Amino acid sequence: MKIKNVVEEVVIGVYEEVKGDLKCCTCRQCSSDIVAYVLNKVSPRYVSTEKGALYSKTTVAFDKAYRMEIVKIIAEAARVVGENPKH
Ligand SMILES: [Zn+2]
Repeated sequence: MKIKNVVEEVVIGVYEEVKGDLKCCTCRQCSSDIVAYVLNKVSPRYVSTEKGALYSKTTVAFDKAYRMEIVKIIAEAARVVGENPKH
């Protein structure tokens, strides 16, 4: 079965863009914790084909309101992870 949550790549992409502005550790462990936190908060968008994945990813990535929402949750996640780093 080919099922993919397109939000995953979008969140990782947005995180890579904004991580320099976060007042939080961005080592591999903390980055994973932040992205996982965000993915648990935003609604997943599953698609079943590669073509669908590409289309949905583009749509999601360029949806400004959705992107703003992700940035907001990343900031929240950075605060939570920053206060309780696993190292
Ligand atoms: Zn760290």
